Amino acid sequence: MSTTLTAEILSVGTELLLGEIVDTNAAFVARELGVRGVTLQRKATVGDNLSRLSSMIREALGRADLLILGGGLGPTDDDLTREAISAVAAETPTEDPALLAWLEGLFTSRGRVMAPINRKQAWLIPSAAALPNPNGTAPGWFVTLPAGHQFAGKQLAALPGPPREMHRMFLEQLLPRLNLPQQAFYAVTLHTCGIGESDVATRLGELTQVANPSVATYARKSGTDVRVAASAGSLETAQALAGPVIARVRGVLEGFIWAEEGPGDAAATLASTVTGLLSGRSFAVVEAGSGGTLALQFAGSPLLRGAAISEDHATLLTLGLTPLTLSEAGVVSIQAALELAHGARERFGAEVGLSVCASLEGATQGQMAVALVSRDREQTAVMNWPGDAGQIRERAASTALTLAFRTLTSWNGVSA
Ligand code: ATP
Ligand code: MG
Repeated sequence: MSTTLTAEILSVGTELLLGEIVDTNAAFVARELGVRGVTLQRKATVGDNLSRLSSMIREALGRADLLILGGGLGPTDDDLTREAISAVAAETPTEDPALLAWLEGLFTSRGRVMAPINRKQAWLIPSAAALPNPNGTAPGWFVTLPAGHQFAGKQLAALPGPPREMHRMFLEQLLPRLNLPQQAFYAVTLHTCGIGESDVATRLGELTQVANPSVATYARKSGTDVRVAASAGSLETAQALAGPVIARVRGVLEGFIWAEEGPGDAAATLASTVTGLLSGRSFAVVEAGSGGTLALQFAGSPLLRGAAISEDHATLLTLGLTPLTLSEAGVVSIQAALELAHGARERFGAEVGLSVCASLEGATQGQMAVALVSRDREQTAVMNWPGDAGQIRERAASTALTLAFRTLTSWNGVSA
């Protein structure tokens, strides 16, 4: 551990330079470095141009201990980050046999043949270690410039552009390799559902303006995450700093939080929380329009008795939908959702039935109705989400899970 570490961020990509996409990656990295006591000196953006990229890398290394690059690790001719780093390091990239085998395996396992242009994603230079990428095909690079180099001892990291890949690689692969200032770090993520990111931010108010502990919101498929992170000289102090802020977040978001994840906790899912709230009651699912996205969330749940997935009206009629509802209200209606949730219970002999009815096209595209029923209780919700068919299917599953979370919480509270 060192006492100080100075860093710069360089985002690579013509789309970013021209404002066609917003640089959320640099904001993420800046925030994460800040809470760990790293002194961030500059952020810059450069297009996909080898000579300008190389000279920006040189300039940054002339000032800072660490340069974090984002983007330009793809397989195409305009992905030039590896080439630029190699030029600055004055080293020649070669194909790394282990990386190449991993990359080819990735394509084979998807039943595809790797195109020759992808081979450069298996490149390494002698000063670079590969950073594994579990979400994509581009490994990152972590480079320590060797003795004798103009910038000997300085370090560079090259991370992929897609945010999902970048966040994970930064947190899991890069941070543990950095010589961070002597500071302990403590972070807790509170997962919410049934409340949008801007409403969460409004409730959090000035909490999000403070740097340490930092409070940040992230929109996820399962809902909005709130991450509280503190850094201090010791873990105890960092925890003590975070504690009261976490308590305030719990207070302002009461009823919406479905899980809290601290350091070392297994990743939580909304479906596992819902399974817990079922307290042993068996359940079954009928999906009309969501294509199995909801049932998939419960894969492996011992309480799931069965699932039926169909968009075919004749099939839905055999699952409990009545001809009257079909002709008068249609499949995407509260009445249809209720009939199908009861149908799920009866068809599969389960105590609780959950249904989703979603419209993927036409004038009603994005409309959905969900229902959760037991023998003597029922609850429904309707939503309207923008998006393409894939997004609507995912959102239909989240809407049903959110309804299940809120309803089971209240049922459990009433019967307790
Ligand atoms: P790929 O293999 O996908 O080409 P890459 O490492 O070459 O990955 P880029 O081509 O620069 O990365 O970016 C790929 C996509 O990732 C962009 O189209 C954009 O959607 C997203 N992206 C890239 N950089 C950023 C950024 N700084 N902030 C937010 N999104 C980004
Ligand atoms: Mg690219």
